[in-house]
Amino acid sequence: MATVDEIRAQLSGLLPRRDPETVGSVLGAGNDDVDAGRAWLRGASEHGLAVPAWPSEFGGRDADEEEVRLINELRSEFAVPDMYPFAVGLSLVAPILFDSPDEAQQQRWLKGIADGSEIWCQMFSEPDAGSDLANIATKVTPDGDQWLVSGQKVWTSRGPYSRWGMCLARTDPEQVKHRGLTMFAVDMEGPGVDIRALHQMNGDTHFSEVFLDDVRVGRPDILGSEGGGWGVAMTVLTHERSSLGGSGGGLDPSGGYGWLDQLGALGRLQDPVWRDRAMSLYAKQKVAGWTARRQANATETGSGGSGGKLRLVEVYSERTTIVQDALGAEGMIAGDTLVEFLTGPSMSIRGGTDEIQRNIIGERILGLPPEPRVDKGVSYSDLRRQGLV
Ligand SMILES: Cc1cc2nc3c(=O)[nH]c(=O)nc-3n(C[C@H](O)[C@H](O)[C@H](O)COP(=O)(O)OP(=O)(O)OC[C@H]3O[C@@H](n4cnc5c(N)ncnc54)[C@H](O)[C@@H]3O)c2cc1C
Repeated sequence: MATVDEIRAQLSGLLPRRDPETVGSVLGAGNDDVDAGRAWLRGASEHGLAVPAWPSEFGGRDADEEEVRLINELRSEFAVPDMYPFAVGLSLVAPILFDSPDEAQQQRWLKGIADGSEIWCQMFSEPDAGSDLANIATKVTPDGDQWLVSGQKVWTSRGPYSRWGMCLARTDPEQVKHRGLTMFAVDMEGPGVDIRALHQMNGDTHFSEVFLDDVRVGRPDILGSEGGGWGVAMTVLTHERSSLGGSGGGLDPSGGYGWLDQLGALGRLQDPVWRDRAMSLYAKQKVAGWTARRQANATETGSGGSGGKLRLVEVYSERTTIVQDALGAEGMIAGDTLVEFLTGPSMSIRGGTDEIQRNIIGERILGLPPEPRVDKGVSYSDLRRQGLV
């Protein structure tokens, strides 16, 4: 195992020291600097510093738990760029590849994910398939031993700069809607892929809708198995919720109490009404942090990250609102604070809405009666014929 000095020396060769006053963005909000992230990952992959637990052949350093913890701790001393543009590859696709017995796919994609050369996006949502994700209509037509994929995806974050898209599509419409779906890796730079940017109110321009017109895919592009797309999607969404909920670092509440200092600097904490509001939020943030920690074992608790996501989303939104309120009119021109405030509303939608997280908790954890489902046991093509989708 490397010493603290060795790791610190490797890190300082790649990154400037972090200004302790700044809290780095982890959401890409108005700040998805792909070049900075790529430069860091390229250098980091030579020493295995970004993904230390990964095998060295894929850009890691085969680090054990203790070394991973040490590297994470030392990394926080440095100004690591926002990893948001790379998050789908690093946090969602890589675990699927590691779990898969398909070594060819590991060789094909893991190195490019670790060194930042190949960015991934997630193409699940469609105009009629958001909360009801199993309603995917993107169709797949066999063509010899390959397939042609056609349809429309929407809300695709990172689309314009992605090389690969994790795309959920319907390979067998005669099955009930959760079955007959397959997850493909689609080459976003290939023929038939049209990416149109959607601008968000926080300034982000990486959001997009993607039109797929006879996009050719083959068997080596299947993530998981043919017809096994729903299982892959559920695994990805569990990782995503956990990541947004903090256990993966997405909205990690640690170090996130800068808002309290801001309120103090603005003199608000002298006022008992403001103090009461601040204290209530402080308590919520503490609880959110503990929930995130408990949920680091999300699969064991069975919640799949829903509870952690709900709590952290609430804290994120209240934290950005309280600062805006305290700033008053100045808040309208307040740079990062304003961007965070304008990102707030999207937090309760991305990765599954608050209502859907509550449904998951109600049904899977509390064992409450499930919602009525008129589509149960009916094949996707019959649903369409009956006008139910
Ligand atoms: C910033 C951002 C980034 C995103 N990035 C991606 C991405 O990269 N890839 C991707 O595939 N998708 C992405 N999404 C899409 C996101 O997953 C969907 O927006 C979300 O799942 C909700 O789907 P919808 O927008 O179609 O809303 P709908 O499903 O139409 O929901 C509309 C409203 O009805 C409520 N509702 C729906 N069903 C129920 C129910 N059964 N019970 C109670 N209430 C219900 C919802 O909670 C919501 O309030 C992103 C969204 C945002 C905002």
